[in-house]
Amino acid sequence: MATVYLVNCGTDAEVAEDEESPYVSVVVEGVPELLREMFRARLGSERDYEGEMSIVVYDDQEQELSVHQLQELVQNFMPCLNIAVTGVEGWRATVRATLEAAAHSGRANGSQYWMYAESAGEHSRCSFKMYSMAKHLSSLGDTHGEKSNEYRRYLMRHVNPSDLVVVPHDDNHYWSLLDTWSFNAHALDIVELIWCAKLVISKLCTAAATACPEPVGIILLLLHLECSYHQGNKFHNFRHAVDVMQATYQLCDLLKLDPGISLTLCISAIGHDVAHPGTNNALMCKYGSPVAKHYNGVSVLENFHSDVFISILGQHWPEFSDVVQRQAIRDAIISTDMALHEQYLLKLRSCGTRSLREDIPLLTSLIIKAADISNVSRPLIISAQWAVLISYEFDHCTFLENRLKNEPHNEGEGMMDDLDRVPDSIDEIVSKFPGIPGGQLFFITTFVEGLFAGLAEKFGELKFLSDNVQSNKSFWLQLV
Ligand SMILES: [Zn+2]
Repeated sequence: MATVYLVNCGTDAEVAEDEESPYVSVVVEGVPELLREMFRARLGSERDYEGEMSIVVYDDQEQELSVHQLQELVQNFMPCLNIAVTGVEGWRATVRATLEAAAHSGRANGSQYWMYAESAGEHSRCSFKMYSMAKHLSSLGDTHGEKSNEYRRYLMRHVNPSDLVVVPHDDNHYWSLLDTWSFNAHALDIVELIWCAKLVISKLCTAAATACPEPVGIILLLLHLECSYHQGNKFHNFRHAVDVMQATYQLCDLLKLDPGISLTLCISAIGHDVAHPGTNNALMCKYGSPVAKHYNGVSVLENFHSDVFISILGQHWPEFSDVVQRQAIRDAIISTDMALHEQYLLKLRSCGTRSLREDIPLLTSLIIKAADISNVSRPLIISAQWAVLISYEFDHCTFLENRLKNEPHNEGEGMMDDLDRVPDSIDEIVSKFPGIPGGQLFFITTFVEGLFAGLAEKFGELKFLSDNVQSNKSFWLQLV
């Protein structure tokens, strides 16, 4: 069901709606309250801003922001959400036209539309365009400079991001989770994940003596990032980003890397999959996604994540994103392309410990790669829960490809029931998902054990991770 936010429109507008209305309306007093409500509902996953349509009807008379400015602000800070802003004049007709256009845009297909829709969109009847990766990419150039600063200041002044991120425990509690390899991101809600990321960034900034945005600025950066990941993805979402950041932080700490290098790498990790469509490069390229064409079919998603992330970082932390750091972030993110995995393994094998320590670009690439595929080195139950989530995404890719190949008889084949919670016992996972042992063994033997064994050979500090991988592998082997 679509939601229509009525901002400064009075309550009459809502009352006048009849019962057959294709949307629910929410009356809001002023833009700050609207933005607080939207961020709050997003963080609590109370409203689906990705699969559904939200329309803001805004009377901007004597207001600080015009309708157009509010639209720009929302599109910039909540880029992956389908939120349109319109003026109050003739708003019912505009709402109807927008909903009609949305219904025809194929948004029900989710990632299919995200991946393949052109940036301009096919519908001229409403100015708002549904989210697509191409549209996201084409908007990046507009978000720099004074305009973005102005909107950032507006959010700081009127919304106070710190009020939106209030956690139930003290920092010692979160550090006790972050400081071990048993970190369980499944057990944390989105607000807590943001808080954990903020703690890591702040700590590394202090250790590296790097100028850092004030805490509220880091929180706004993380809110912007969370709204740029798709919550609708089972695996490639903000939770995965924080999990990879924590693994990166642990690896840097175990190897006693320079804090400045650790900071850049942890920052890269939190942005490394931003705006991921929940599919893969092969599907992007094979069926002619405009984003795949833009990057000539080379590391398509990784290039896309880099461009989106560097744009976001530049808005919140310009001091951090000089040319050298931007390149380091880009290189780190590109190295997570699994098509490059063999090349990295060869480099790792041909390098001595000392020369690897001195080759920072190679070492940091290997660390973020290991962190990105570190699920299978976590304690067994945590590892199995990640396996459940990725199996949903793989299943979705199969479904999507059948649809793209125009094989409707295969539609739905293999589609698992929707997941209302991630099972928290191994027995339940094994009985509900019989494909997981085989899938885990394939992933471990093809990609993970070589990398982790190679790292353990160079650095004794990392041997326990390779041991964890082997222990999980033994468990899955008994079941096949
Ligand atoms: Zn990833």
